[in-house]
Amino acid sequence: MKNQSKIPSLKIDIPSALPTVGDKKTFVGSAMLVLVDTYDISIDPGDEIGWKLDLRRIAGGVEVNGAISGVIELSCYRCLEMFEFPISLTVREHALWLNEEDVDEGDAPASEYMVIDGVLDLEPIIRDVIALSFPARRVCDEACRGLCVKCGANLNVEDCGCETGHIDARLKPLEELKRRMETSGQ
Ligand SMILES: [Zn+2]
Ligand SMILES: [Zn+2]
Repeated sequence: MKNQSKIPSLKIDIPSALPTVGDKKTFVGSAMLVLVDTYDISIDPGDEIGWKLDLRRIAGGVEVNGAISGVIELSCYRCLEMFEFPISLTVREHALWLNEEDVDEGDAPASEYMVIDGVLDLEPIIRDVIALSFPARRVCDEACRGLCVKCGANLNVEDCGCETGHIDARLKPLEELKRRMETSGQ
């Protein structure tokens, strides 16, 4: 990843940060999160999103509690314009410590997150918590008028003047027929 040096390290070395069970430490950082795909977020240097996460070492893992807040840019489903989506989220996760002694083959992991070789990567936790907060219908505004189906103009910005922008093209012949019948009936 480019510019990685400017992003606060999200890979926490647990044995040095939290040497014994019960130890607690707070990690604060910020970044700019850019939406690459529907739920795919890239993390770039910036301060648009900030987090404060309390890590507590517990037997067999690490608890991660805290908050993430800031603004992420999403694109509107109707007009395709970018809009700012403010977030203010609570984090309540835990990661399982994966090592030789602890791994019980018959035990399915109860957590999606893992401490691997003593390292806990906070990035997937931050990414998931944010991606799960996205609204199902991503619109810049409930009143967004979207794009003209005929010419593609953004109807929030301009009135393109296209005729019957809302009528489905497949219904056009029916409209025409109805109009002709009405005219001949007079
Ligand atoms: Zn829109
Ligand atoms: Zn138009």
